[in-house]
Amino acid sequence: MKTVFRIAIDGPSGAGKSTVAKAVAVKLGIDYIDTGAMYRAVGLKMLNHGMEMEESDGLKSLLEQTDIDFSAGNIILDGAIVNDLIRTPEVSMAASACSALGMVRAKLVELQRKMGKTKSVVMDGRDIGTNVLTDAEYKYYLTATAEERARRRTAELIEKGQNADFDQVLADIEMRDYNDSHRTLNPLCKAEDAEEIDSTHMTIDEVVSHICSKIV
Ligand code: C5P
Repeated sequence: MKTVFRIAIDGPSGAGKSTVAKAVAVKLGIDYIDTGAMYRAVGLKMLNHGMEMEESDGLKSLLEQTDIDFSAGNIILDGAIVNDLIRTPEVSMAASACSALGMVRAKLVELQRKMGKTKSVVMDGRDIGTNVLTDAEYKYYLTATAEERARRRTAELIEKGQNADFDQVLADIEMRDYNDSHRTLNPLCKAEDAEEIDSTHMTIDEVVSHICSKIV
């Protein structure tokens, strides 16, 4: 195994990227960076400040005063753990909306590149293989059908005690798929040199083993 290597996992919402990436990180003893959580943190902050999802001087100064970090598996926004606050359907839509803004992407991509510079990481998101870590040693594009992804997301929300209606979750996922793959800046797409894994009929363990078996 190389001393420093990067694994990029991209794909649409609910394909299991973060569960898989977390397990791969544990198995290989490397850091996991959840870039979606970073867009969610910015979306949460914009919602809390009642900001419109558009570029403005207000957004520029808000971003300058925004600190995002990971510590012991937690996402920290301006010194506070926001793990649960960023997982609501409202924040999901805010994350998708703010991720189309150039100012937001510029700030977060710079942070992500720094995080993946000196140590081995597994990073998941939408544009990791195509933009953030184009020279990653290992690239994957993880998908599943929209229905299967909605089924998984509904179960996850219910397990956390949140209200979840399958049809609504499916509609949200389809809207986010559309937004993420049609935005001008770094839209969701498979990197040419990424391996596609369709997880519709695979267990998490099968996907994790497949990825780890390729790391040499
Ligand atoms: O992966 P997750 O669903 O937590 O991501 C939330 C939102 O953040 C996505 O819908 C997407 O719009 C955005 N995102 C992005 N680029 C990334 C990661 C996430 O635009 N690298």
